[in-house]
Amino acid sequence: MKEYSVEDVKHITRPRLGEDIPLVLYRILRVIGMRNILGETSGATLYMMGKQVGAMVGAKDLAEFEAKIKELKVGIPEVQIINEDQLVVKLYECITCAGFTYTGEMFCDMESGIIAGLLEGVYGKKARSTQTKSWSVGYSYCEFEVILY
Ligand SMILES: [Zn+2]
Repeated sequence: MKEYSVEDVKHITRPRLGEDIPLVLYRILRVIGMRNILGETSGATLYMMGKQVGAMVGAKDLAEFEAKIKELKVGIPEVQIINEDQLVVKLYECITCAGFTYTGEMFCDMESGIIAGLLEGVYGKKARSTQTKSWSVGYSYCEFEVILY
């Protein structure tokens, strides 16, 4: 199986439909499709996938981190630095959960991974991100606690 790079997938020729897709299609694939196929392992798999995305996209500082997340329309991030090894990232308008009704579980694992992957590039350290808030547990934004190690 061939491995493709961001360069490979960047070339889009859709003169009539353009580059955007309805968010509902993404959410069907992401929240319904992937969870149905991957089951209990979907969280870990999506997190790893997100980390790879973050690493491939890359960011050299926090300003670029915020810009990339916005540019990819993953959400609107707000970074709070707790100390040299710890950050909290609030994510407004999250691609996966913004507007979701209460379900009692959190599932923004890919977003969590993207945040960790990008921050590894920013800090040159390993990053572990844990989701702590979501629309699906009653908030109007998503939140991730990130540990650098
Ligand atoms: Zn979310």
